[in-house]
Amino acid sequence: LSQNDRAPEQRKVLPGVKNIIAIASGKGGVGKSTVAANFAAGLAAQGFSVGLVDADIYGPSMPLMFDVESEKPRTKEIDGKNYILPVENYGVKMLSIGFFADTSQAIVWRGPMASKALNQMFGDAYWGPLDYMIIDLPPGTGDIHLSLVQGVPLTGAIIVSTPQNIALADAKKAVSMFQLEAIKVPVLGIIENMAYFTPAELPDKKYYIFGREGARDLAVDLGVPFLGEIPIVQSIREAGDVGRPAVLQEETIAGDAFREIIRNFV
Ligand code: ADP
Repeated sequence: LSQNDRAPEQRKVLPGVKNIIAIASGKGGVGKSTVAANFAAGLAAQGFSVGLVDADIYGPSMPLMFDVESEKPRTKEIDGKNYILPVENYGVKMLSIGFFADTSQAIVWRGPMASKALNQMFGDAYWGPLDYMIIDLPPGTGDIHLSLVQGVPLTGAIIVSTPQNIALADAKKAVSMFQLEAIKVPVLGIIENMAYFTPAELPDKKYYIFGREGARDLAVDLGVPFLGEIPIVQSIREAGDVGRPAVLQEETIAGDAFREIIRNFV
């Protein structure tokens, strides 16, 4: 049996975690990290126990999005082994590759260094029992993805794309990667981000800036679930910048869009 086929409590890696979900994208800048942050915070707000691993070696952004930039994970000895303790905010336990490097410097990870940091976040950290662990992957289909699928028993992957053709082409490649015989990670769905823009003064108007419903159509073409769409909303960007995910806002377009996607998923 591979780690993937074992019941959670029989696994060596992350035995207490019920669902391990990678958030991926083909292209960078489509909102993958924003979706991962809101997914994690939204699940926690619904009462699930949630962990979040920021594995985006090209631009770890979770410490900023969760307002824990100045924190450093502590370590603790448990049963004779030294464990890294995740930091916590909004009910989400979190570790970021950004905690293991000086993020004011450009991070030039070599493959082995990145794999080592990944192993630490999964193997040497004390996560305890969790309903969901969300992993923010780097964009694309690189080495990190391979070491991750080999080392971590993923339940599945969610792909984020904008409706723009160039993003969709890359999203398709990401889906094919997870479906490769050697990888075989179920694709749990596609999320369309930046689906349209609605100005505050024209609430009934939708501008399809990046194209219309492209990610929805891609999901249908590939036979994978479509989990929903998120419009371009200034408060989503602002929420990311101030370190409080938009899903925590009550009765806003942004908060409602993320909650709807989580409802479609759980
Ligand atoms: P990725 O992880 O794919 O590189 P990010 O999540 O970092 O993308 O998002 C890229 C930028 O777009 C960030 O500045 C983020 O705040 C912004 N952004 C993402 N999604 C939205 C959205 N739906 N509405 C407005 N801004 C968004």
